[in-house]
Amino acid sequence: MTMGAECREACGLFGIAGHPDAALLTYYGLYALQHRGQESAGIASTGGQGIVHHRGMGLVADVFTAEILERLVNRVAIGHVRYSTTGSPVAVNAQPIVVNHAGGPIAVAHNGNLVNGAELRQELEARGSLFQTTTDSEVFLHLVARPEPGASAPAPAADPAGQPAVSLVERLDQALRRARGAFSLLFLTPRGMIAVRDPWGFRPLAIGRLGDATVVASETAALDLVEAEYVRDVEPGEIVSVSPDGKLSSRRFAGPAEPRPAPCLFEYVYFARPDSRVFGRNVHEIRKNLGRRLAREHPATADVVVPVPDSGNSAALGFSLESGIPLEQGFVRNHYVGRTFIEPEAGARLSEVEVKLNAVADAVRGKRLVVVDDSIVRGTTARSRVAQLRRAGAREIHLRISCPPHRFGCHYGIDFPDPRELIANERSLPEIAAFLGVESLGYLSVEGLREAAGVGPDSSCTACWTGDYRVPVPGPLDKGVLEGGSALRGAAVPRRSAPPRPKRVAP
Ligand code: AMP
Repeated sequence: MTMGAECREACGLFGIAGHPDAALLTYYGLYALQHRGQESAGIASTGGQGIVHHRGMGLVADVFTAEILERLVNRVAIGHVRYSTTGSPVAVNAQPIVVNHAGGPIAVAHNGNLVNGAELRQELEARGSLFQTTTDSEVFLHLVARPEPGASAPAPAADPAGQPAVSLVERLDQALRRARGAFSLLFLTPRGMIAVRDPWGFRPLAIGRLGDATVVASETAALDLVEAEYVRDVEPGEIVSVSPDGKLSSRRFAGPAEPRPAPCLFEYVYFARPDSRVFGRNVHEIRKNLGRRLAREHPATADVVVPVPDSGNSAALGFSLESGIPLEQGFVRNHYVGRTFIEPEAGARLSEVEVKLNAVADAVRGKRLVVVDDSIVRGTTARSRVAQLRRAGAREIHLRISCPPHRFGCHYGIDFPDPRELIANERSLPEIAAFLGVESLGYLSVEGLREAAGVGPDSSCTACWTGDYRVPVPGPLDKGVLEGGSALRGAAVPRRSAPPRPKRVAP
């Protein structure tokens, strides 16, 4: 994560210990996690003598070649895909971050965002730590390299085979107690791999087995791809150490019940793959539940249910099953729109949104549609979709959204724009419906979301909808980033290619 009051990143982690093709399997695993981050990718591996690594900007397919993977062949490997839109989309911030310290080489890969990252970094820098990136992920390495006064084992003298894993785990234990916020982590040393999840359990991290090897991944879709069997999640507050031959041992740096768990419900709504099991539950099934509940909360009289692919597919199926209104493929997706899409000159109508999906005129012409999508953020995408369906001849459009209105920023690792750009911020439902140009608009309620996801009010994070931040945040959300130690308050860098900003609705 990039340092700053807030970071605009989400990431994917994959690691494996005890397999001769560890680097190659990590490469495949990252492919399965590409949706969690498209800015950069990296793999670090070890055969017990030092760490080799390769990182680069772009998609997994762009960053690695057969020759590079050949250089990374080892029995233990960790990998990372990163998604950042504010701060520095530069190679130096790609992960895993690899450093040498008194105890030997160590690498870290991080998914999440620390709310006290800037504070910890300032403190560490004041005590002499030299940071090589602008990410808060590096804070973990410096905390481990420089244990708290009074912490158990001091770093032993440099040892080419790395420090004993036990002392690293003890120092990690001390370090992790200081971190506040969201952190699913993978560490690599010549002595093996370590997986960690923050005590709140904001971001997912699953453990699988592949023969004698242990695999750890942000989502189980990555386990499926390498044919590993899902065993369980890394528990909130747990440190799982894996030896180079894949043997697992566990300890806790925080109790599971205190603080209250806060798995991110937006993982279910949008972020995770529907074929993944996240926080122990299948995402597609939960999205179907969201759609069913949405149909009960906001029924509509319509001829067909149209999903917005791919994010609305599962919820639309649930809506259709619950309402009895048949599902229709009103949009077809172009799968070849990548990050290189060149935005046309201002004023041109065409945008990435139009290129990505095309309305199927013969399926929607003259019909009353229930259009189901996962979320509305700025509102520009939904507005374009509605316009496309109108041009294709839709008679009525009833938009249904399988989560509540987004009004708050995420401090725990999901990329949202500045809250001032969220369309539901300071706009009423009729104003939003007018801006989008729909006959009716219905969002799932917070209670509906929780119930459909099967979680209680105290056991999930709903901050982006409710403003209830489980881990107190230092201040209002802004796009400031710390670069080289100074706070820069810059204009928001749009994610992917920028959709046009929503205009304020005329009163
Ligand atoms: P918009 O309302 O134009 O900002 O775009 C909303 C759409 O973007 C949603 O329907 C999602 O499919 C997708 N989306 C939602 N959240 C995010 C996010 N954090 N990063 C990227 N895309 C997102």
